[in-house]
Amino acid sequence: MSPALIRIDGSYGEGGGQILRTALTLSMITRKPFELVNIRAKRPKPGLRPQHLTCVKAAQKVCGAEVEGAFVGSLFLRFIPGSLKAGSYYFDIGTAGAVSLVFQTIGLALAEAGSSKILIRGGTHVPHAPSFHYLYEIYGPVVKILGFDFSFELRRYGFFPAGGGEMLVRILPRRNPSYLELLGPYEAKSVRVLSVVTEDLPSHIRTRQAKTAAELLARKGFQPLIVLERAKALSPATFVFISISEGQKRAGFISFGKKGKPAEKVAEEVAKEFLDFYASGKAVDPYLADQLLLPLALSGASCHFDVSRLSRHFFTNLWVIRQFLPDFTPEVKGKLDQTGEIKLVKNKEKTC
Ligand code: ATP
Repeated sequence: MSPALIRIDGSYGEGGGQILRTALTLSMITRKPFELVNIRAKRPKPGLRPQHLTCVKAAQKVCGAEVEGAFVGSLFLRFIPGSLKAGSYYFDIGTAGAVSLVFQTIGLALAEAGSSKILIRGGTHVPHAPSFHYLYEIYGPVVKILGFDFSFELRRYGFFPAGGGEMLVRILPRRNPSYLELLGPYEAKSVRVLSVVTEDLPSHIRTRQAKTAAELLARKGFQPLIVLERAKALSPATFVFISISEGQKRAGFISFGKKGKPAEKVAEEVAKEFLDFYASGKAVDPYLADQLLLPLALSGASCHFDVSRLSRHFFTNLWVIRQFLPDFTPEVKGKLDQTGEIKLVKNKEKTC
């Protein structure tokens, strides 16, 4: 007997693209078909955008799914998964849509099928999505504890609006997970500041960005390691990425430049976000918290982590996961937009 179709309301909670991506990943892995209505209902332009459509097409390709409603603007999708196939894949978003989000849709699923290689073309550093450096420095090392082995390579930078960046990801078969414990506060005062400017913009921007970030951090007792880079890309762009790591704990923040925005302002924004995070005394940033739920649910690992802010993305993602995996019931202490603590004990003999 084929599994019953799961019906999901895409307007729930955050009401954005993450509901779609999480449903795709879980459908591929559990082989449960789903129907999604009101896709991205809470966004100014609801329905599938090119980057979401690429996620659907990518998922369809890696598991040979039967799909209905896969077009730009569609508010409805029916997805009936087939069996996952490891291999070499190439996906082109065609815009500056985030390559990280396409990867996160299929990466965890492909890890169930063997070794794969995927090349994705689009935006590698764009607002409101994990940047390449976030995947490489933060997400990748943490999900490795849970048994997911991804290696990320930046082939070419891609920024808004032209995109054209390329990220290559090598995926190894999933291994047994280890217990995940990420608890604040950080003792470390060493942080990394990456300041990047494209070749078509004056190089003093990257030094001004880095200098301001370094000064703001040094004032609070941090010893920043500065890395400056010039990027080759189709669109002019600048950004600053600040990251911290201590043992298995890590967190990362990014801010982008734009025309008319001073380099100092770009640095101030991201330094403030980082310093507020550090002052919360927690280990996990709000982005990693929502992105960790899916690998956690799939790995079956026990965990204990705290987070500087429980986002709507976090609660929405948890809700979608439970539609497919009702037994995934981590204990969540804390409310929306406040600090939180998440605990999951699978094996009662194990103590957190
Ligand atoms: P929509 O276009 O519908 O807003 P989307 O497809 O862009 O949606 P969201 O549903 O908003 O996606 O999910 C965005 C994802 O990107 C979340 O997992 C969030 O944690 C992550 N994210 C957003 N900003 C950052 C950041 N600065 N660093 C790391 N990850 C981020």
